[in-house]
Amino acid sequence: MLMLSAYIPEMILTRRELHRYPEIAWTEFMTTQTVVQRVRDLGFKTVLGKKLFDETHAFDRQEKVIKGAIERAKAQGIDEGLLEEMDEFTGCMAVWETGRPGPVTALRFDMDCVNVQELATDEHVPAHEGFASKNEGLMHACGHDAHTAIGLAVAHWVKDNADKLTGTIKLVFQPAEEGTKGACGIAYSGNLDDVDYFLAGHIGVNAKLHEVAVIREGFMATTKMNVTYTGKASHAGGSPELGRNALLAGCTASLQLMGIARHGQGETCVNVGTLHAGEGRNVVPSKATLQLEVRGENHEINQYMQETAERIIRGAAECYGCQYQIDIVGAATNIKADTELSDIVFESAQSLESVKNVYNLSPKAGSEDCSFMMRRVQEHGGQAAFFLFGCNHNGHHQCDFDIQDTESMPEGLGVFVGVLKRLHEAK
Ligand SMILES: [Zn+2]
Repeated sequence: MLMLSAYIPEMILTRRELHRYPEIAWTEFMTTQTVVQRVRDLGFKTVLGKKLFDETHAFDRQEKVIKGAIERAKAQGIDEGLLEEMDEFTGCMAVWETGRPGPVTALRFDMDCVNVQELATDEHVPAHEGFASKNEGLMHACGHDAHTAIGLAVAHWVKDNADKLTGTIKLVFQPAEEGTKGACGIAYSGNLDDVDYFLAGHIGVNAKLHEVAVIREGFMATTKMNVTYTGKASHAGGSPELGRNALLAGCTASLQLMGIARHGQGETCVNVGTLHAGEGRNVVPSKATLQLEVRGENHEINQYMQETAERIIRGAAECYGCQYQIDIVGAATNIKADTELSDIVFESAQSLESVKNVYNLSPKAGSEDCSFMMRRVQEHGGQAAFFLFGCNHNGHHQCDFDIQDTESMPEGLGVFVGVLKRLHEAK
């Protein structure tokens, strides 16, 4: 087999090119083009557009934002035929069938960026090396550019080694991980129902450079909600009794939500992040919008948080005679990884020369939406695992986020390929 080092220069170049043109959730049209063209050239079959999703579980797709991104992609010279195939849905699953009996393995790589303006000073490596973001206000500040580039390097490796592999390999390039919007629709689409082994990774987070952390269980189940209250405007001095005050409904809901009773069986969180209401000083406010999220240590506890929140939101509407609407705009569940596959990931990391420390981790905080894909695969009798490969970052979603790509990315690639070798190498 070819040495992995053969794939590294191209992988780093790809990552830096993706870093230059970050795209936010559901707008990853140019990134999807890069992925689709590359994997098709290598000989993969592709699943894209609406075939990749169950649309009712594709959260928070904002029509105006998506249409704007399509126009931007056209201006940037996207292949119009491919754009039509995408049918307004970003993302791609690349499938390699070896034709020899063997397991089906799926690897997940997310592709979206964050709403952050990248640091332009010389100490920041992307700025210094000339690959900082050219898309105003957007930045790959979570490392998903590295994930996508690693996925493409894995694709290249699979193609080069296809004659020595068995079974089927599916590479899932997922849009809209931020805000936990994109994975659930792919999970419910059924595209992963034949998968025996599912693996995803994330750069950074708890893991420092040359460390790999295997996540045995953890992350929090979460539901993100947008709430709209609609009341009735009236003259605040002349006829306040005719109004229905949406602002007060929003305020009441906010205060009560923060007071949801804790759950005796595990951790919970709740946050109302924004509340916008009202039209003017002397008008009874007829509109209020809230953005909030609840979390729970597991699915059942999060379910308790969500149902209690919905009851409070309904009750506050009733208090003030307002209408209300709840939109679910994101969701994730907790992770319970399978021991056998996690052990393979652990050994794969240990076998890499540059990796100094491999450890198990069960983080309580944070959420990761590929948890839905993991759960779906597990429900169909497959195994799932998740790992972190390290870098020395100053904090995710910050303007000075950086990943030491030449050192960190080969280790991520090494773990993925090591696991594929263990599961798919012809004996
Ligand atoms: Zn991330």
